[in-house]
Amino acid sequence: MSRLLQSYVTGNWYSAPAEGSPVYSAVDGSEIARISSSGLDYAGAVDHARSIGGPALAALTFHDRAAALKQLGQTLLADKTEFYELSRATGATDRDSGIDIDGGVGTLLSYASRARRELPHSTTVLDGNVEKLGKTGTFLGQHIYTSRRGVAVQINAFNFPVWGFLEKLAPAFIAGLPTIVKPAGQTAYLTELVFRRIVESGLLPEGSVQLVCGSGQPLLEHLGGQDSILFTGSAGTARVLRTHPAVVANGVRFSAETDSLNASILGPDITSGSDEFELFVKQLVVEMTAKAGQKCTAIRRAFVPHALMDDVIAAAKQRLAKVVTGPDATEGIVMGALVSVEQRDEVLQAVRALSKSCEIVFGSTEPPVGPGAYLSPILLRCKDNAAEEPHEIEPFGPVATVIGYDDTAEVIDLAARGQGSLVASVVTGDSAVARDIVLGIAPYHGRVLVLDTVDAKESTGHGSPLPVLVHGGPGRAGGGEELGGIRAVLHHMQRTAVQGSPEVLTAVGDRWVAGSRQTEDGTHPFRKDLGQLVLGDTIVGGPRRVTLDDIAHFAEFTGDTFYAHTDPDAAAANPLFGGIVAHGYLVVSLAAGLFVDPAPGPVLANFGVDNLRFLTPVKADDELTVTLTVKQITPRDNADYGEVRWDANVTNQNDESVATYDVLTLVSKPKKTIS
Ligand code: NAP
Repeated sequence: MSRLLQSYVTGNWYSAPAEGSPVYSAVDGSEIARISSSGLDYAGAVDHARSIGGPALAALTFHDRAAALKQLGQTLLADKTEFYELSRATGATDRDSGIDIDGGVGTLLSYASRARRELPHSTTVLDGNVEKLGKTGTFLGQHIYTSRRGVAVQINAFNFPVWGFLEKLAPAFIAGLPTIVKPAGQTAYLTELVFRRIVESGLLPEGSVQLVCGSGQPLLEHLGGQDSILFTGSAGTARVLRTHPAVVANGVRFSAETDSLNASILGPDITSGSDEFELFVKQLVVEMTAKAGQKCTAIRRAFVPHALMDDVIAAAKQRLAKVVTGPDATEGIVMGALVSVEQRDEVLQAVRALSKSCEIVFGSTEPPVGPGAYLSPILLRCKDNAAEEPHEIEPFGPVATVIGYDDTAEVIDLAARGQGSLVASVVTGDSAVARDIVLGIAPYHGRVLVLDTVDAKESTGHGSPLPVLVHGGPGRAGGGEELGGIRAVLHHMQRTAVQGSPEVLTAVGDRWVAGSRQTEDGTHPFRKDLGQLVLGDTIVGGPRRVTLDDIAHFAEFTGDTFYAHTDPDAAAANPLFGGIVAHGYLVVSLAAGLFVDPAPGPVLANFGVDNLRFLTPVKADDELTVTLTVKQITPRDNADYGEVRWDANVTNQNDESVATYDVLTLVSKPKKTIS
């Protein structure tokens, strides 16, 4: 008898006291594992996540969590040979496994890198600007994101046993939310193996990730308002989960990635045999055969101008005829097996239903003789583009339908008949066509790829969700939004509008807010290291009179002789200035001269400015004063220095702000003393 898959909950591996249901290899139909979660302590798992995993994550900053994910990604890559070997039993070719395994680890590494670069070394995120809510500036508002105190329950589809859980784990983990992973039964053995290596690595805090091999349904009744469900699978299951009494009653956050009738559109500008024509056909065949078409993002509907239908079908048939299916060891293979014989039967049933309005032009509904869930690719031609079937039936396998259209307006309408999809691609050589179609179909899609001869070489392709871009789609596609860089992290957090005085907002957000305390203690802040600086440390420089000579000198020295700085008559006619004004960059440069402390010290470099605005024109004889205040201090773990953001406010003799901006510097950490 094959091995019973284990779950990992409450800090232990758990074996159900049952035989379990058999799970079969897609390649030869042999029993590869058994699965059962009977007797599993679901309530304990949820409680463990909340009481052990959550606090352990809360003790780590975004940067700490990112460092753990990075190490985990590198560790998993070192083990990937055994993952590839087991992955073959799912029907995957090595190319398919690359999408799943390397794609999953790549997503971890991408999130690790983004989080270090784009999130602070803390546990909260500030969202947007401070809002002034009263007349004098003593009552302000600031949106903040904090980690929810719940658990993210993933319920995944069979087709990506590795990527499917890592792409959801990465943003949740960075957000500080513990995760319980529930893989699809059919391929859970691969998820279990990768998970085992994660637990053995000891890199993730206890309770931050748990695994349930078996049924996911009993988890739902233990979930509450701080928890979320991230579902990938069929629209039917999504409906069942979304309407579960506990989910409805407790306001559990629910996000779904479901069926999708993704479109690929050949632009009306394309001629037969052109480079774009070849790109379109090649991409169609790649999407039909990668993962044996079992990709949520695969092309199901290929829209082609009526006049090019025959040519596209002939070219696609030529490529499809070269496709070899069989176990991965077969020479020249490009397509593996479907995940199971049952899945193949479902696909064939869908093809039969499509046949009401479409004819098969390549492949057949007779599966090949022999073991394994193999099937040749099937290409259909739609006889009537107004028919319902091709826009409603999703054959989750190596199947696509070519559908004709007359003009841009019609193809936009036809694409929308998918009722919301994950992705569409448009192949065109005309930017105006691209614009019309992209703007027409965007409301129905989570991602749109425009493919042409310029980007084709570098393009990651129609079917590849990327960590930095949104994955998800409206309507029938589930209405969810995963990935998309830091956006996905913020989806796991709670956004709260905090109202209060400047001092309170400075304390809550760990970022100095105008109106709160500014300290001038007699030591220039540039003489303080990262350990000595505190929010609100301030230096005031000036006043300094700006002369006409200064402006003329700056114009000549830099070459910026724009008339407003050099030509009195033309400047006088300018409706905004009414005379010669100083260059904005002169103002910023003079301000630097007023606040800088020149001697070598803890300040190592100025690496930029943010949010620079010139608010009031500066004229000759105006007197400038600058107030520079420590706004945010971000130590870097992997360096002897950290980042200090300074609030700069340059004012004139009337106390009006003439320029405001943030100065960004690198400042040394305290020197280590050897005792
Ligand atoms: P499925 O039957 O809906 O199953 C998906 C997951 O839900 C599996 O883990 C399954 O567990 C679980 N499940 C089923 N009933 C449940 C219940 N009552 N309570 C809790 N969990 C339950 O989908 P599938 O056949 O695996 O996947 C194929 C479908 O997924 C296709 O329609 C495809 O379009 C869609 N899909 C969408 C995306 C996307 O990103 N949009 C990606 C991949 C697939 P068991 O395996 O244990 O039954």
